[in-house]
Amino acid sequence: MSKKQDQTLQGVPYLSLQREYQELRDEWMQAIDGAGASGAFILGPNVRAFEEEAAAYVGAKHAIAVASGTDALVLSLRALGIGPGDEVITTPFTFFATAEAVSLVGAIPVFADVEIGSFNIDPASVEMRITDKTRAILPVHIFGNPADMTRLDAIAKDHGLHLIEDAAQAFGAEHNGQRAGSMSDCGCFSFYPTKVLGCYGDGGLITTRSDEVKARLLQLRNHGATKPFIHLEAGYNSRLDEIQAALLRIKLRDIEKAITARQQVASWYDQALSGLDLVTPVPTMNGRHAYNLYTIRHPRRDALREQLNACRIGNSQCYPQPLHLQEVYADLGYKAGDLPVVEALCHETLSLPIFPDLSREQVAYVCEQIKKLEAGL
Ligand SMILES: *Cc1c(COP(=O)(O)O)cnc(C)c1O
Repeated sequence: MSKKQDQTLQGVPYLSLQREYQELRDEWMQAIDGAGASGAFILGPNVRAFEEEAAAYVGAKHAIAVASGTDALVLSLRALGIGPGDEVITTPFTFFATAEAVSLVGAIPVFADVEIGSFNIDPASVEMRITDKTRAILPVHIFGNPADMTRLDAIAKDHGLHLIEDAAQAFGAEHNGQRAGSMSDCGCFSFYPTKVLGCYGDGGLITTRSDEVKARLLQLRNHGATKPFIHLEAGYNSRLDEIQAALLRIKLRDIEKAITARQQVASWYDQALSGLDLVTPVPTMNGRHAYNLYTIRHPRRDALREQLNACRIGNSQCYPQPLHLQEVYADLGYKAGDLPVVEALCHETLSLPIFPDLSREQVAYVCEQIKKLEAGL
């Protein structure tokens, strides 16, 4: 049996962090032990150091660690004063948390359509949806591909709107040489284990250039308190712990290597899949795609899914239902056909396995199965 068959006999996982864990294990265990022995468990020296290192990497003045990416969005909206009666224009092609955060602060998500190539929010569609209640634009760098921040920033400035980046999938992505999270009022990151920079639990971060927003965020993440037992507003318990921060510091050190490995995997797919009846990811012009996910469009997506499942190749339908047509938003009055691009995308997109340790042989095996479907085998 050849080596290649050996490696793919068990199929190909959608995501595997096992080898990475073995590599980081000793260093992380030591850090955990250090945190335990020091008695600082939450918002201690590792969190503060990680905030500084993350701010430097992103190119933002400040970074504030929180408990999750969802919290990063909720706290950012609150810190910018967005609440009941306000409208926030966002994309319907994202994980639910993006719009959920808008709803959680009492504001109304307004959905714009997306670009067929980049899968990102379409600035022209954003502009059409601005009303006198609009307070912010909330683009997502979907799958790690940067949104067109140059045009979105111009629209936000023209209309006096806040701009918030949902960069949960885009740590290390760039647009025009600027990193995700540094191009708006607040950049929101998630460190959920599956993200480009993931911890082994929940975690999140907000980046900002504003001293005022930073102060408000520090207050909001700790029950609205400015000093112990003195509360200025109702906030949240949204703090990062030392154990996750220690791991994030270790992983941040090698994040460029991890992103380069993801880009290598993406280029193997790009090559092997070119010329087939499908569309490979379209990186944004002047952008750097961080490839949190590798998502293709295939005219027979459901048949392809079955084929991959039969070979035990991990895959995911990101995303099967656009947010404007989710039951939770039935009251907002959208109907099928309102946002035609995203609705078409949701029938065709499929995310393939991608993670830094995925091998060339594994990618070749996945592509072989896709070609078999094409050949009618
Ligand atoms: C993962 C994700 C979130 C939520 O992050 P959590 O850390 O899971 O709360 C928000 N937005 C997008 C686009 C995401 O992918």
